[in-house]
Amino acid sequence: PAVHSHNFDNPGFKGVSEIPLGLYINGQFVDGKDGRTHPVVNPSTGKEITKISVASPADIDVAVAAARKAFDTVWGLNTPGHIRAKLLAKLAGIMEDHADEMAAVEALDNGKTFFWAKNADISASIECIRYYSGWADKIQGKTIETTNAKFCYTRHEPIGVCGQIIPWNFPLLMLAWKVGPALATGNCIVLKPSEITPLSAQLFAKYAHEAGFPPGVINVVNGFGHDVGAAIAEHMDIDKVAFTGSTLVGRKIMEAAAKTNLKKVTLELGGKSPNIIFDDCDLEAAVDWAAFGIFWNHGQTCCAGSRIFVHAKIYDQFMEKFVAKAKQIKLGDPFHPETKQGPQVSEAQFDRIMGYIESGKADGATVHHGGERFGEEGYFISPTIFGDVHPDMKIVKEEIFGPVGVVIKFEDDEDVIRQANDTVYGLAAAVFSKNINRAIETAHKLKAGTAWINSTNMLHHAVPFGGFKSSGIGRELGEYALANYTEVKAVHIHLGPTTS
Ligand code: NAD
Repeated sequence: PAVHSHNFDNPGFKGVSEIPLGLYINGQFVDGKDGRTHPVVNPSTGKEITKISVASPADIDVAVAAARKAFDTVWGLNTPGHIRAKLLAKLAGIMEDHADEMAAVEALDNGKTFFWAKNADISASIECIRYYSGWADKIQGKTIETTNAKFCYTRHEPIGVCGQIIPWNFPLLMLAWKVGPALATGNCIVLKPSEITPLSAQLFAKYAHEAGFPPGVINVVNGFGHDVGAAIAEHMDIDKVAFTGSTLVGRKIMEAAAKTNLKKVTLELGGKSPNIIFDDCDLEAAVDWAAFGIFWNHGQTCCAGSRIFVHAKIYDQFMEKFVAKAKQIKLGDPFHPETKQGPQVSEAQFDRIMGYIESGKADGATVHHGGERFGEEGYFISPTIFGDVHPDMKIVKEEIFGPVGVVIKFEDDEDVIRQANDTVYGLAAAVFSKNINRAIETAHKLKAGTAWINSTNMLHHAVPFGGFKSSGIGRELGEYALANYTEVKAVHIHLGPTTS
């Protein structure tokens, strides 16, 4: 199978990245069974970077068989936690040695800035893997008091072969969130990156191989969702599937699991997160965080603060400063040190977002900034701010997944909480106020898996993340994620002489 040598020459990383292009199955890079490849496109230019192997469902069968064999022989209950810990720590170290290269590849493939790829995606991925290395030898059950004739305890055993399907918005980070707890607890994985951004997962496979994981423990199988993703969700010998992506596909995953072997399902789905800005906030800080909330990663953030509720008393002031802030965001080449916003990830996403912008205009919302394409080539969209919106407009109700925020005026605390909760989603929410009682009270009333006070988009590998309502099932990160990857076995030992 081919390797793509990419020559980078930017202030952050100068050098050649050798990216394997095959499917990583059973400890080897191989061509797909039917030999198909798919172009990987640079979203800054719309031009092809390289062509990568694309799996077919038959390749998934091979990967699952390899994972099963590894689980039954060299991994799972056969390898003590401290060995798993050592391998994960080694992997984190190798990734750290290649952090600049990985950041450059992520920026090239996804279009995010090299700065953020390095300082958020790659660094947080390394920390996440290292954090779960720490958990690998601390997976503990309980002893449970019952009767004097019995001794009972629980074991937290690995589930087995886990399918993991990830999106394109934080390609390596979403991978790390899934791979870390799965491997720490002794599972084997068959992971499908997004076909739109497969390159950093290829490098991950290369470095995991170098770290010395036994063949079959980690399989990275690039491919499309409708066939390869579906094959994972339907597979009779996959014990669990973890998915991050759209709510639409999340439903299909659950349905496939229900129709086949009832594999365990965890889902991290979409959002339409509210940002509530009270009149007693630190206005400058609130404007900064609100911009970070919706424009960071070009709005391609599942927890993006896309509905910005601003108290009537400060609405005009807020809007003026918010527009000024959006004007300052420099769009352009993700590798230029001054660039703050790169392109959207793909032409399809660009078209989808522009469609939402057009619907907002047609519905009569006011464009305070942006609302149009930026530049001539690539998939750039100016940071867009809508005002004068109504709750029934598509731009207020649906996840846009782009740099498009709607600003909504409110007057009453209870009413804004009602409006904020008036969505099928429940991923995240933010509150801005200098009155800590008001802020905490509001945060507790918001139906969301994460509530920020006086900030947005802040995550940490030790803190759980996931959705209420249609935003998902289960929690990633922290100790909570371990439960996604373990089965609890209760062992009853009878101590008495009779059956009584
Ligand atoms: P998507 O659902 O289109 O694709 C996600 C993954 O699923 C990709 O790997 C894709 O190939 C695969 N897929 C597509 N169809 C499939 C099918 N029928 N069966 C199995 N797999 C299939 O989502 P996307 O466009 O890549 O990502 C954007 C979405 O992800 C947004 O809705 C965003 O909110 C969500 N997201 C959520 C989180 C979170 O943690 N909650 C994080 C990042 C992104």
